[in-house]
Amino acid sequence: KLEPAVQNYEWGVRGGGQSSLVARMANAQVAEEKPFAELWMGTHPKAPSVVLEDGWSGMVLGEFLRLNEVFMGSKAGMFGGDLPYLFKCLSVAKALSIQAHPDKTLAKLLHARDKPNYPDDNHKPELACAVTEFEGLCGFRKLDEIVENVGAVPELKELIGQDTVKLMESSLDKDAQSRAEALKQAFNMVMSSPEDRVKHQASKMVDRLKSSQKLRDVEELVLRINEQFPLDVGLFNIFFLNHVKLRPGQALFLGPNLPHAYLSGDCMEIMATSDNVVRAGFTPKFKDVATLCSMLDYERSGPAEIMEGEAREGMRVYAPPGHDF
Ligand SMILES: [Zn+2]
Repeated sequence: KLEPAVQNYEWGVRGGGQSSLVARMANAQVAEEKPFAELWMGTHPKAPSVVLEDGWSGMVLGEFLRLNEVFMGSKAGMFGGDLPYLFKCLSVAKALSIQAHPDKTLAKLLHARDKPNYPDDNHKPELACAVTEFEGLCGFRKLDEIVENVGAVPELKELIGQDTVKLMESSLDKDAQSRAEALKQAFNMVMSSPEDRVKHQASKMVDRLKSSQKLRDVEELVLRINEQFPLDVGLFNIFFLNHVKLRPGQALFLGPNLPHAYLSGDCMEIMATSDNVVRAGFTPKFKDVATLCSMLDYERSGPAEIMEGEAREGMRVYAPPGHDF
């Protein structure tokens, strides 16, 4: 039996009224007004689970597994006696930061360069499985769709600039590499715009959309997220990223260098034991726009792949690539 650690990040669902899945699963005093965002089940030193077994009670899980290797099973040696994965429950009330996770090589580099902001040298592939209706942004939209959004949103066009807009349009019937280059340039133009320019254009856009008679889905989403993060640069990212809605039981696998942001709902999430996040929008935390822009996989665009899982003997099995989980 374990006591998992609760994280009260401000984007979490408030504990009151039992509406937060995290609050319901936590073996903790539920404060009405506190956000219950994440429940961590694992050995990560930031918030290790604690063992609640006779004779071992109060010991952190990592220490317990080192002393009782038998619980690690036959693969103990592969991961240096530690759990390779971290299991979480998330209750999302408010958008999480727009983020991507580094691969192993970049994680080592970031950790060596900036330990306070990149506390691990490990990669962080993750799989999120919806428990309730779950909504997020995941991966770049198909370039045609992004070009269509740019055409419909003059403020976005302004931030990207005429030359890059032309480059995007002309790349549509070219090869994958030219399309990736155009996408990279457009995304970078938005992300590297000075803050006052972003706020000015965002404000014009929000005013225009609010007085519009008919809004497209993506524009409704922009207005909704603007309530949470007024005039944030992330609002413009929404036009670049797929808006994904998962039904309970459906899952998303987020490999390295894939831009994403969770927006609402409850999910179970499993990832490599790591807390390495490169953030760029919708967050009061440390942003590293240059790293995010340079690491993203711009060749990968198009609808997000939703995993249905496979029913097997009373279980549902999701099999992402890699061997951390
Ligand atoms: Zn993530």
